[in-house]
Amino acid sequence: MLYLERKDKVILSRKSKLTLDRPISSTYLDIGTMAFMKWLSSTEDNKSADSPIVVKCILKDKYIIFYDGDLLKDVTVVFRDCIPWCKNCEADDCGHVGFAICLKQYYTRYGSTDV
Ligand SMILES: [Zn+2]
Repeated sequence: MLYLERKDKVILSRKSKLTLDRPISSTYLDIGTMAFMKWLSSTEDNKSADSPIVVKCILKDKYIIFYDGDLLKDVTVVFRDCIPWCKNCEADDCGHVGFAICLKQYYTRYGSTDV
């Protein structure tokens, strides 16, 4: 128990990354949603500097490629049977996946694949 708490603190101190001890389902979606809202407002205002994310390519129900300004590299999130998977983090519960889910819902709703 003590060990877990310590480990948790160490992880939290490192730039609010995901912690396995927390309810991941809401955490990574929150991170992704926040990134998505930033991205959305920056696209609408033409202020791309506000968002660290630049969407590069969307192939509906296949994959989404975007540039992560925090990582300084491109991130690919693929959809396998509609389940998102981040190729950068080798995970299905990182902030990129949360972002991809938001983006996918956005484009599904508005029926556009143009970026
Ligand atoms: Zn990721």
